Amino acid sequence: MASLEDRVKAAAQAILQQQHFVCAADIFSAIGWIHPTNVDAWRKGHLRYFFEVVSVRWGTVVQALEILLQWASDNGLRATEGRYVRTTYKGAEELKFTADGDPEFERMLRVHFVSPDLPTATVRKLEEKQKADPRPVVFEIIRDSKCSECGIEIDKGDLLWMEKDQALCLACAGWSDMEYLPSGDVALTRRATKYSTRSAVIVRFSRSRGRYERQGILVEPSAIERAERECTEDASERAKARAKGALTRKKDDARLIEQMTSRILDLFPSCPSKEAEAIAVHTAERGSGRVGRSAAGRSLDEDALILAVRASIRHRHTAYDSMLASGLEREDARAAVIATVDALAKEWQRK
Ligand SMILES: [Zn+2]
Repeated sequence: MASLEDRVKAAAQAILQQQHFVCAADIFSAIGWIHPTNVDAWRKGHLRYFFEVVSVRWGTVVQALEILLQWASDNGLRATEGRYVRTTYKGAEELKFTADGDPEFERMLRVHFVSPDLPTATVRKLEEKQKADPRPVVFEIIRDSKCSECGIEIDKGDLLWMEKDQALCLACAGWSDMEYLPSGDVALTRRATKYSTRSAVIVRFSRSRGRYERQGILVEPSAIERAERECTEDASERAKARAKGALTRKKDDARLIEQMTSRILDLFPSCPSKEAEAIAVHTAERGSGRVGRSAAGRSLDEDALILAVRASIRHRHTAYDSMLASGLEREDARAAVIATVDALAKEWQRK
């Protein structure tokens, strides 16, 4: 068997040729210390830290890093600070390599060694890409699913978040106040992204092409409004039509919320009407933002409304959220509050 030095150098050379930069994680994967599926799991947040699944003694890891450093300096590679983050519905989260997260060691593991042949502009681009938070991705699903938090059905064509392989509806992920802007108008998309304090990319899996394809973005409604206004001022006829469409959507929304509120009050006559309306507002926005929701019929579905009311009770009338915030698992927190939820739901059902 080849020496550790030969293996690290050969791996580094091959990786450099392929992608013009090398980092420790790639080396460890290439020499077989960690399986690519585990690297993937780590990037998705399923592992607490990278070395959780690397069964190599520390001495050997340090040795490999020393070989890599020496090789990089012998070959005139440039060291740049790499970043390992994953996006969650709450924002970007740094990925850890080691259990104790020693800052010096973590930094060393993050370093990207860049080929000296690469033009400076390309290196700068690579660095910028490393610094930027990856944009979160929301899935427009092609199969019915269910929110693991509130239990609401997420129908084919609706949007969902994947959080550590758990599906979350937009409301539970805290993204229900966002609006779906379909791809198509480049200027509008660019402006809306710029004016929105946060945004996500919406993708859908294409069976025929075997890959995820971008459908649009999820941004703040006010950002779309501002972008639409500016595009209208640019006097594009197409943009004008779009602005009109937004108005129509707003009217449709208002009508839907009204209908939902009265349905909720039918089912829960003792629910305060202010609260029924708030639940309707949330539910109307749940799932897919405003576009693509095949609207009224489905959202007025009795089971969906009951689930929505129960979810609202859980969030507003129990300690559920603070339990989650203090680190309790969702399942345990749900079990702890279910009696309270049942009781209040029953009370609201009384005439
Ligand atoms: Zn949910």
